[in-house]
Amino acid sequence: MNIILFGPPAAGKGTQAKRLVSERGFVQLSTGDMLRAARSAGTELGERVAAIMDSGQLVSDAIVIELIEDQLDTHTDAAGFIFDGFPRTVPQAEALDATLAKRDQEIDCVIRLKVDEAQLLQRVTKRYEEQGREDDNPETFVKRIEAYNAQTAPLLPIYAERKRLYEVDGMGSIDSVAKEIDEALEMKSGGEKPGFFAKLFGKK
Ligand code: AMP
Repeated sequence: MNIILFGPPAAGKGTQAKRLVSERGFVQLSTGDMLRAARSAGTELGERVAAIMDSGQLVSDAIVIELIEDQLDTHTDAAGFIFDGFPRTVPQAEALDATLAKRDQEIDCVIRLKVDEAQLLQRVTKRYEEQGREDDNPETFVKRIEAYNAQTAPLLPIYAERKRLYEVDGMGSIDSVAKEIDEALEMKSGGEKPGFFAKLFGKK
């Protein structure tokens, strides 16, 4: 099963993805983590993307699509993939569909963590203090939210139209968010039961 964890920065996608990895054996593909790893390793790619990341903008589609394709080729035996922070633009979503189709796969489920943007700022300020990620500073974080709303949120109606979108309240505790995600995945793997479409995010 291929799942996209969807939501603005700091919505808790990474936390939930890691849990799904340890509980279900899925492979997490976080483009943000991959780019940060490239920077830490001091690669040419890392150097190329550093300033863009620190400014809160998105790196080019071609870069992240290549990173994802490399990973899909590496983990050919995966039980499923959790896409975390990817796709973030319409061209990325189209490239993902195309590359999965080549492998006879598709996106089965898009889980949107719905969050209150004002409260996110508090979450991120805490993360900034604890982890010191440059792009978590409040000014840059606002730019990241703007990028999300302008370039990433337009994907929601596309996945809704394809009946792939589930909404989860992302402001609850880690456990309650996890429970809602599990329920969505059970519905998905158990087939479309009565009431199923009530859970789907049919309209933007
Ligand atoms: P994240 O940790 O997912 O919030 O990503 C951190 C930063 O990496 C973002 O603000 C972007 O600069 C860059 N980035 C991560 N994923 C993508 C993506 N799918 N498309 C473009 N830029 C990305």
